[in-house]
Amino acid sequence: MIDTLRLTGEEAMGLVERREISGAELHRAYLDAIDERDGELHAYLRTVDESEGDGVPIAIKDVITTKGVETTAGSRILEGYVPLFDATVTTRCKDAGLPILGKTNTDEFAMGSSTENSAFGPTRNPWDPRRVPGGSGGGSAAAVAAGLAPWALGSDTGGSVKQPAALTGTVGLRPTYGTVSRYGVVAFASSLDQVGPVTKTVRDCALLYRILAGRDPCDSTTVDLPEPVQIPEAEDLRGLRVGVPREMNEAEGIEPGVADAVARAIELCAELGAEVGECELPRSVEYGLPCYYLVAPAEASSNLARYDGVRYGFRAGGATLRELQERTRDAGFGDEPKRRIMLGTYALSAGYYEAFYGQAQKVRTVIAREHAAAFERFDVLVSPTSPTVAFELGARTANPLAMYLSDLLTIPSCMAGLPGLSIPCGLSEGLPVGLQLIGAQFAENTLFRAGHALERALGFDYVPPRLALAA
Ligand code: GLN
Repeated sequence: MIDTLRLTGEEAMGLVERREISGAELHRAYLDAIDERDGELHAYLRTVDESEGDGVPIAIKDVITTKGVETTAGSRILEGYVPLFDATVTTRCKDAGLPILGKTNTDEFAMGSSTENSAFGPTRNPWDPRRVPGGSGGGSAAAVAAGLAPWALGSDTGGSVKQPAALTGTVGLRPTYGTVSRYGVVAFASSLDQVGPVTKTVRDCALLYRILAGRDPCDSTTVDLPEPVQIPEAEDLRGLRVGVPREMNEAEGIEPGVADAVARAIELCAELGAEVGECELPRSVEYGLPCYYLVAPAEASSNLARYDGVRYGFRAGGATLRELQERTRDAGFGDEPKRRIMLGTYALSAGYYEAFYGQAQKVRTVIAREHAAAFERFDVLVSPTSPTVAFELGARTANPLAMYLSDLLTIPSCMAGLPGLSIPCGLSEGLPVGLQLIGAQFAENTLFRAGHALERALGFDYVPPRLALAA
């Protein structure tokens, strides 16, 4: 019997390579774990019951296209849509011998921070099922945390890989914009969307990133990596310059337990040999969130125009084309996409374009420059990933602004196109706290090195105690 709760992707690869277990047996073991535990958690929207390969299977967020496997992006409007092609990231996983285990739950069109905006019901946090797993990739994060997948893919527009990783005690990477193909990824905000791994360890994260990254002729924004991905080994941080952005570590709303765990991790950086210093990102933190909530909805309003009831998935009836489109969009989209379509359409409309969208684009440049200045002095910037630990279901659903504030600390670096890694750095009230490590453009190797050394020194146990006890 294999212990799916503990098994990392790397260990699973070892078992398969040494022929101690077959890919099909591994697939079956995860399906059994899903049968046993996913009734409560609802991390998966659907599973793939036959292994299409002999490697270590992977869970895939349902915004990522999978040939022959329904892909809904958590929305009714895509219900029944079975793609005829694979996203490039799906192809890359399959080519690397990683068959699909299933499609994981997500906030509708990846819009949200709790997975409660899924049209198919929320996912629950394996650490405490009364709480959310974060979002929008809560399904992938919960699956990895609960041993229902050795590893998973998520997508991150403003924090949807990093924040759920933080809330579930897993590791999540949002890569540098342009390093991972968006071809076949259901578009939310195209200048921000990026696919990234969710794993139990930093090494697993690097292993998956090595599979995913690289230029794709189907996505003109992609580039080849300037250097190969290094799977981290070093256990010290000698020579690394770690910056602590004051505004991100003292922001309003950071829970004391989160601040304490992060402060302890920062001390550890120094103990491991890093040079630690303070820095500033004042405008990024103050304007990041409002700027994101102009740019992302503006792009979403345009991207979501394609769901017209004719081309994909769900269709409501109607006597005329216009009626069919109106009824399909009214019944097919939930409240959050509707809110974003309205906000975005407004921000792009004649007469307001310059004042809102145009202004936000300028602020985005300011944010990118502020980060670039910080990376002249530092190799890595650190902060909490999320101001709070996992919150209870329903706690933020009535107040969209409270929900949006969940991403206060993850959004600024996304606006700047920079990579960010979240690793667990301790517990507060028995729930995981995430440490965010932000790197310069293409500095994923630096993030892996720092994340791995800290992970070793912290010795965080990623298995939720209530599941360890039940096993
Ligand atoms: N929570 C943010 C939003 O709702 C970010 C989501 C994401 O990264 N996909 O837009």
